[in-house]
Amino acid sequence: MLADYAVRVEGSRGRRFPELAHAYRNDFQRDRDRVIHARAFRRLEAKTQVFTRRYSDHFRNRLTHTIEVAQISRTIAAQLGLNVDLVEALALIHDLGHPPFGHAGEISLDAVMRQHGSTFDHNLHALRIVEDFEIRYAAFRGLNLTFEVREGIIKHSRDYPPDQFPELAEYLLEQRPPIEAQLIDLTDEIAYDTADLDDGYEARLISLKDIRAGVPVFERFCAEVEKLYPHAIEKLKFNEALKRVFDRLVSDLICNTRCQIEKSGIRTLEDVRSHSKRLAGFGSCADAERRELKQFLYKNLYFSSALEPEKEDAERVIGELFAFWMDNPESLPQSYQEKAAQEPLPRVVCDYIAGMTDTYIYEQYDKYLVEKR
Ligand code: MG
Repeated sequence: MLADYAVRVEGSRGRRFPELAHAYRNDFQRDRDRVIHARAFRRLEAKTQVFTRRYSDHFRNRLTHTIEVAQISRTIAAQLGLNVDLVEALALIHDLGHPPFGHAGEISLDAVMRQHGSTFDHNLHALRIVEDFEIRYAAFRGLNLTFEVREGIIKHSRDYPPDQFPELAEYLLEQRPPIEAQLIDLTDEIAYDTADLDDGYEARLISLKDIRAGVPVFERFCAEVEKLYPHAIEKLKFNEALKRVFDRLVSDLICNTRCQIEKSGIRTLEDVRSHSKRLAGFGSCADAERRELKQFLYKNLYFSSALEPEKEDAERVIGELFAFWMDNPESLPQSYQEKAAQEPLPRVVCDYIAGMTDTYIYEQYDKYLVEKR
């Protein structure tokens, strides 16, 4: 069933600490299950995707977004003859390193780290979680995931220049990741572009009229839906059009990736790894449509005044708590105080904050910075 260019579990470079084979689950299936049973995975439920709970319980949080990414990724991987188990594990893990407060939280945490001469990168943080912070097994620290899953964590969304990241040398930085990993960033984008349009419309922050005027691909399908269901209520017309946009992007990604593989003469996984560029991607027409949709969301949703309070909260709460723990490291939990003996304090504070849910970071803010005033 697997294409020649797919990753084969029996060809895995293996785990850091060798383990006996399982009776009926292969190594990528075991990795998927380890991710699902991780504490960091459960915390995704209380981390913002775009909308905080003050809007509605109906909207996506980072956990439901992750499940959507896994569903889309599995469908596409199966069509392309890729390793579905590996793709599923990579999709479930792709946002594990996200800090509280969605995108604004990531920007705020990166900004405070830059004041200390460092950075915050959610992929690298996810790697620290699975290598070090999750403690579940007596024989080793971390989840002891296979090489291919750890490689996919850092390479799914960007390339890391080998000269700038010598500590990541084991992940073959000069090579492209397998197509299984290349897919994730694209399925992530299909998931959030369509979901954010859905939640933004439901929250009444963007109207059907604005979407039709600002997103040509949506308008094209909406006109078709108008003809098919002239008497349907507006919300259902919206749903029908959105469903078609979603399907258009998924189908194009499958079709264009297959076409790229054929055109470039790729036969094996080694060919994929040594190819000059990534092979998974949209065709130029769908890519332009995707960009228009994304620009619309930036302008009308992510940077809208309605979501401004969320961004201000992220900056204020993360910035002030970071400064508080830098000044008062004795207020960190014992395990983080011990870490501070081995690593720079800003990194330890960053790790602590990055792991928090939206709920927990507000509790900490109230405890240390509101009640004491
Ligand atoms: Mg994501």
